[in-house]
Amino acid sequence: MGSKPIGLQMPSLLRDIFETAVVFLYPAECRVCEEFLGVTSVPYICNNCWQDIQFLELPWCDICGIPGVDGRCDTCAISPPRYGKLRSIAFYQTTLQEAIHLFKFEKKKVLVQHLIQLVNAHRPLDCCIADYDFVLPIPIHKKRLRERGFNQATLLANGIVEAEGVPVLTDMLVRKRHTVAQSSLDREARQQNIVDAFEVRDPDIIRGKNLLVIDDVFTTGATIREAVSELWTADPAEIDVLTLARTLDP
Ligand SMILES: [Zn+2]
Ligand SMILES: [Zn+2]
Repeated sequence: MGSKPIGLQMPSLLRDIFETAVVFLYPAECRVCEEFLGVTSVPYICNNCWQDIQFLELPWCDICGIPGVDGRCDTCAISPPRYGKLRSIAFYQTTLQEAIHLFKFEKKKVLVQHLIQLVNAHRPLDCCIADYDFVLPIPIHKKRLRERGFNQATLLANGIVEAEGVPVLTDMLVRKRHTVAQSSLDREARQQNIVDAFEVRDPDIIRGKNLLVIDDVFTTGATIREAVSELWTADPAEIDVLTLARTLDP
């Protein structure tokens, strides 16, 4: 099964120690408020800014998780998405946006443990990891994996399921074509960009199973929609989605 991490994604302990040491030896500015960083519980971000992360709170749409809705939102009532439910932990703004940027694009892998802690401390009650047979991170193309050295969704997924013993499948859903970064595109272009980008490698393994798809950020939903649609070709029992962050206004 595809649950074992590949070499490229092994955490580099030395690099983490080095980065932590640099942060302590060369005090810098907080990457969010630009005030003196001081001693912090999270590297690069001051304690005040870290406390400022806005978590999603009930009520939210039973299906897509959009906040401020009791029951189903209008969109889900008219044309429900193909996943069972989508849950997110916090809004993609200021501190969390910067933390994800540092982790993903500046490769500050030391931040991943703090992001995992956020998910594990604030995971909604109706998102119980033990209910799933498999967890699948949204994959990145192997070209991007070579450039970045890790898939942020895989690192998050590994940390989130660690205590639950649910297998993380990293080779089941794959990117069959390289696409430009979704973050560089507007809503319409994102949908076009991601069409037919995914492929299920071994449908027999996930047929009839409960799947949880994990990603770092939910923005327009184009990537999630395409991945979920491809996963349904393998005929699983259910597909739910968990993301660390979601935009305020998709
Ligand atoms: Zn700050
Ligand atoms: Zn909804």
